[in-house]
Amino acid sequence: MAKNSKTFDEFYSLKKNKICSIDEVINYSELHNGNIQPYDKDMYCPECKQAKLTFVHETSKRRAHLRTIPSSNHVSGCSFNYEYASNKTIKTIVDSMTNDEINDRLNSIMNMLCKDISVANQPSNYDVNESKNPMLIQCNTGKVIKTKAIPRKSLNCWVDHNENIYAYYGKKVKLKVVEKQKKSGGSIFYLLEIRTKNTKGEWNLKATIYRYKKPLDIDENALYNITFIGFFDQKYEFSVRLLNWNAIKYEIV
Ligand SMILES: [Zn+2]
Repeated sequence: MAKNSKTFDEFYSLKKNKICSIDEVINYSELHNGNIQPYDKDMYCPECKQAKLTFVHETSKRRAHLRTIPSSNHVSGCSFNYEYASNKTIKTIVDSMTNDEINDRLNSIMNMLCKDISVANQPSNYDVNESKNPMLIQCNTGKVIKTKAIPRKSLNCWVDHNENIYAYYGKKVKLKVVEKQKKSGGSIFYLLEIRTKNTKGEWNLKATIYRYKKPLDIDENALYNITFIGFFDQKYEFSVRLLNWNAIKYEIV
């Protein structure tokens, strides 16, 4: 995939000095006959904060999205410069990681995507530190080692329930544990339900994650940041399958 064909759920606003959601721009556009003037020329890559993005309006074929302006470049070391790793590659790499390595990686991903604490905030050494970017993985493709990117998907935006593997992340989500039983008399299992608030203030179910043991650390009234690596199971609606039992991390905001 060419670097400029990548799309973005979020952008960095220089004026506001924060990461904003594409939903803000979509809403504004809908209320102003397609005009997005306050956002025009103020949408940058959420990771390197350098590459300029442009808003592409919804068509009958495609949802509204953000993409890089072709003449604009991402900083060296920004994961959006790299080709996305395939499902198979991501799975192989996650399978080869220890639980500690998975946990460290998810910690860094959460800091970067949910809290905006990232290497991108230290521009002086950013471009030499691709090894520290948690969205990048080293893939062994026979003789050469190639750096590729893990695609990301924000749960706070519209989510397509497809089978592609993403690093999913959500900010200020609500979590709930629901007890279930496999048929009558079958074993008990649990679903961790993840809800996000839409721009109208409604809490919508975004994903459920299977847990065979009851998660005991969930406060249903709290707001969480969450990140996990997995894909949507096509058999059950909203159900996400993690690449690894431990490939999930959440913490109260
Ligand atoms: Zn970038």
